Amino acid sequence: MITIVGVNPESLDDVKQAMGKLIDRLGYTPSKPRLFLKPNIVDALPPSHAVDVDPIVTGGLILALNDKFDIEEFIIGENSGYFSEKPETFKRLIKTSGYEEMVEILKDDYNIPVSLVNLEYVELDEYEWKFPPYKIKLPSILKTHSYINLPKMKTHGTCMVTLGVKNQKGLLLLKNKKKFHLGFRDDEGKYHSNLHECIYELGELIKPELTVCDATTALEGNGPTTVPGATWVKKLNICIGGTDMIEVDNASCQIMGIPLDLVEHLREVEVSLAPGSLPLTCEEPFKRPVKRTKPYGNMYHHSSMWTCTGCQMTMTRMNRKIYYNPELREKLKERDKKYDRIDFFIGRTEEEDIPENHGVLLFCGNCTKEVSKLYPDAIFVPGCPPHYRELAKIYVNL
Ligand code: SF4
Repeated sequence: MITIVGVNPESLDDVKQAMGKLIDRLGYTPSKPRLFLKPNIVDALPPSHAVDVDPIVTGGLILALNDKFDIEEFIIGENSGYFSEKPETFKRLIKTSGYEEMVEILKDDYNIPVSLVNLEYVELDEYEWKFPPYKIKLPSILKTHSYINLPKMKTHGTCMVTLGVKNQKGLLLLKNKKKFHLGFRDDEGKYHSNLHECIYELGELIKPELTVCDATTALEGNGPTTVPGATWVKKLNICIGGTDMIEVDNASCQIMGIPLDLVEHLREVEVSLAPGSLPLTCEEPFKRPVKRTKPYGNMYHHSSMWTCTGCQMTMTRMNRKIYYNPELREKLKERDKKYDRIDFFIGRTEEEDIPENHGVLLFCGNCTKEVSKLYPDAIFVPGCPPHYRELAKIYVNL
């Protein structure tokens, strides 16, 4: 059973009231006195971008839970592919997204014991896993605390949508995030999985007690983060809650107007509405991500689901940098006059991916290193991922 509540994200108190209703309608009671909340916090952007779960939604949920139950501890945790490796970048993420301030408000104004953790650096437990080496490590907190999943409602360039099941990728260590994208390999180097299968399997392995999808604002187009001209913010002013994550995701897809058969990592389940819920309707279907099959001018982009979040974020940040910098945009125009064709490769790339009629070859990231050696004139940008400023410099100055 799911419920949909109206939420005004301008007021912490209003959000708390809405979350109280959501909890009551679902009859949810945490099974443990310690709670772990996993909001989707993927980019260092303020809430107006609709990329991260609005901290006011997470804060309002904590206030409601704290009022209703005898909770000893709240932990907010995330492993954001691009920001979790270094403490300084993680700090930037939680500061810019507004989480640092929200935690201070909850502690100082409400005296609630809340902490924020980088899930890359926590104790881990081993679980059985479907793909080689048939075991995977996940945060121990999933067993010691009641786990609440907080996705943001967004369309996604590779996965069509990112909701509760996809948000669980933020429970993984960085090395396993990469394997989710690039495939789990056996000792002979043979690949056994793809991204959609891995996300699906993680959804079967780990089940949150409660899922609350933040659709106060949502992102449509080529998410999961802001791409100028290719993503747009929608204001829905609702949250969707349920104790079955898959059901919440099914309901969210209905609201977005996305058919389930377009979401490879999600299975279809019956959705039932709790009494008192707002209706489950799609007011206007979300704009879907556009798969680029044609070149941009003379630039042929070769990227696929075999590209992990690190290089995807590098690309997004590089595009934003060029978009907002007139000097770089001019250089891009000059570059385009020089060449008939440029082929740009990112993520896991094999020799058969290189077209015979290729132009200047530009390889981005260590996943392309081996294949780049076959082409002595090619340009290879090292890094895992490369830095977006370094890539932008090479990209516009070819
Ligand atoms: S090179 Fe890029 S795509 Fe490959 S593992 Fe590193 S960050 Fe991911």
